[in-house]
Amino acid sequence: DEVLRLSGVGKTYNPGTPLAQNVLQDIDLRLARGELCALIGPSGSGKSTLLNLIGLLDSPSAGELYLQGRPTRALDDAARTRLRNRAIGFVFQFHHLIPAFSVLDNVLMPLMIRHGKPDAEDRARALELLAAVGLADFAAKKANQISGGQQQRVAIARALVTRPALLLADEPTGNLDTRTAESVFALFRRFNREFGCAVLVVTHDPRLAAQCARTVELVDGRIVRDAANTAAK
Ligand code: ADP
Ligand code: ADP
Repeated sequence: DEVLRLSGVGKTYNPGTPLAQNVLQDIDLRLARGELCALIGPSGSGKSTLLNLIGLLDSPSAGELYLQGRPTRALDDAARTRLRNRAIGFVFQFHHLIPAFSVLDNVLMPLMIRHGKPDAEDRARALELLAAVGLADFAAKKANQISGGQQQRVAIARALVTRPALLLADEPTGNLDTRTAESVFALFRRFNREFGCAVLVVTHDPRLAAQCARTVELVDGRIVRDAANTAAK
């Protein structure tokens, strides 16, 4: 039940130029179905780079990355995009909702990208997820008419609408006040439990990391700690 495996992954930006920078080295990492894992580390340690590699938004310079058992390095752009759209959901610090679109249409967007015009089943699933994040009554509102915390909830619903095996979140609560951050984070835990999708979340907040069953720490592009957190609820 392995969702993700990285084997000897490295990343060098601007290779072969005077600006060459080794940002990730010898990364070995496995995530199983249903794991909730925090990714922590100082600014510049390579967390976003790692998330971009795992999300197939960028390619490793070394090593291999397996998604659901499939090696990804040799895939062409079209195959990578297909696999990304099928297997991965993203939540970013800035949610990137389309402001003039309704909340419902924002949640439907990944399905529209996948197969065009949404059908009744798509709408039902989007509405079910909006209800799950507490926004059933906001479906028809424009995305720019709701609060920041509500927008981040919409982004979570959008990330889950394709039923991804892996949910990647890059500082999803970085822009929110403490209480809103807590309630948004509670949604990750809930969907992790209910849907069994693996969740990898970058956070600077030690209290939120402590709620994850596992913590991986990066320093200078290397994993320096990978530990179970037995206290996590
Ligand atoms: P973190 O997310 O932990 O703050 P990043 O992955 O953003 O770390 O950055 C790690 C290092 O890689 C930093 O030194 C950063 O300046 C560099 N870096 C990030 N993205 C790029 C890029 N697209 N081109 C060149 N260098 C980059
Ligand atoms: P099963 O009992 O068949 O395993 P699931 O747990 O897969 O059922 O699905 C239960 C409900 O959760 C369904 O309504 C489904 O649409 C929804 N669901 C399942 N997985 C996800 C996911 N990763 N993201 C969003 N919704 C999901």
